[in-house]
Amino acid sequence: MFKNLIGGQWVEGARASRNINPSDTRDVVGEYAQANAEQAGQAIAAAAQAQPAWGLSSPQQRFDVLDAAGAEILARKAELGDLLAREEGKTLPEAIGEVVRAGNIFKFFAGEALRIGGDAVASVRPGIGVEVTREPVGVVGLITPWNFPIAIPAWKTAPALAYGNAVVLKPADLVPGSAWAIADILHRAGLPAGVFNLVMGRGSEVGQVLLEDRRVDAISFTGSVATGQRIAQACVARMAKFQLEMGGKNPMVVLDDADLDIAVNAAINSGFFSTGQRCTASSRLIVTQGIHDRFVDAMAKRIAALQVDDARKAGTEVGPVVDEKQLAQDLEYIAIGRSEGARLVAGGEAIARNADGAPGWYPRPALFAETTPSMRINREEIFGPVVSVIRAKDYEEALALANDTEFGLSAGIATTSLKHATHFKRHVQAGMVMVNLPTAGVDYHVPFGGRKGSSFGPREQGRYAAEFYTTVKTAYTQA
Ligand code: NAD
Repeated sequence: MFKNLIGGQWVEGARASRNINPSDTRDVVGEYAQANAEQAGQAIAAAAQAQPAWGLSSPQQRFDVLDAAGAEILARKAELGDLLAREEGKTLPEAIGEVVRAGNIFKFFAGEALRIGGDAVASVRPGIGVEVTREPVGVVGLITPWNFPIAIPAWKTAPALAYGNAVVLKPADLVPGSAWAIADILHRAGLPAGVFNLVMGRGSEVGQVLLEDRRVDAISFTGSVATGQRIAQACVARMAKFQLEMGGKNPMVVLDDADLDIAVNAAINSGFFSTGQRCTASSRLIVTQGIHDRFVDAMAKRIAALQVDDARKAGTEVGPVVDEKQLAQDLEYIAIGRSEGARLVAGGEAIARNADGAPGWYPRPALFAETTPSMRINREEIFGPVVSVIRAKDYEEALALANDTEFGLSAGIATTSLKHATHFKRHVQAGMVMVNLPTAGVDYHVPFGGRKGSSFGPREQGRYAAEFYTTVKTAYTQA
């Protein structure tokens, strides 16, 4: 039984949940403790007690803990990657890549702990000095989704700790294993008791306590729009600081002058890798008419050849989706697309057993063509390997279609035209823009986030993370 970490102690849960491998649903990854509301309150109390001393700790102490955690994650990348692929279903190379990202994030924020600076400013009044400094926010509640089981807990936890906050992490119910590994690593890396707490459990129970308890000064959330809206309301009601990273309906524009191979590779990667379960996945391919038919044909060929199989098997390109509910949602959207009149070019059915006969949640990657912007498959986040092609007259229409969405996380363009690439970077309404690259797959040391319905609050990652995890103080001194 994997337990929760509360106040430096490993604590039994009120219940337990089984972590199931979506590539082979007979395989139980482990039994994980589920905290109840009372235990969530205990974790918050422990964090509140530990935070003042941690906030005043030496940057060297924070560097040492975060650097040691990063080094251990990197050293164990094969083992932790295997655990991640087993509990979430992304392929082993993708899972190992995610673990490396998490390790590098801890290393990056170890360095940031040493670089917390401020400004000394001349006052407009004679004889007075002004200092602008950054202080920790206090206790932060971190609520994370299932699709990046180690990277998202890492990219919230590392800056929170680097800037002197205490943490209560509530990971997604479906993938507690990777978050538990982070807790274990931080605990052994010498973090004082109570500075980092892990409470695995239900969102409606444990998550809700984090939202309502006044001792939690800030909430950082990644997940669905519906939950994000609930979180925003709860935080506004008690004036807590909050940050939301939510869904996407990311466009990739393919222009007539694109290199076809680059465009197809980027679209296959963006749409189907990690089984389409990335908030930055491209789900709308907006293709100008001169290249449209060649592009759709090339995509269909590539999709037919994609290896869909056990996430941990060598050669697998697309693993299963995370659970039965997600598979049902993908199949439902495929039925919706058909009923709306879209043409299903490839895939779209479920595979009940993989090549070795193991039962799992495997949709075959699906591509729709001849879709219109108003179809539900082009407006709602499906969060699976279901992609649609929208035909555009020219670049101007393609840009307008790209922006015709409530979301604004990531956007891409495949083109050899400097003029169009430059114009697109400037005019597409998204937090991240990619030229001749997949819309998913980002660096760990630069800001991550979106606009419109995708994100709310300051950016995550890189030096911009300081905006959320610190609060600014302005001090005036008369000499
Ligand atoms: P979700 O909203 O169902 O759950 C996210 C987290 O919120 C989980 O830990 C869940 O237990 C918790 N939660 C649920 N109800 C709660 C409540 N009432 N109070 C407090 N916490 C609660 O999302 P999910 O299904 O785990 O993740 C998929 C979604 O995440 C997709 O919409 C995807 O686009 C989004 N996502 C966004 C980003 C990004 O950076 N923009 C990154 C990854 C995933």
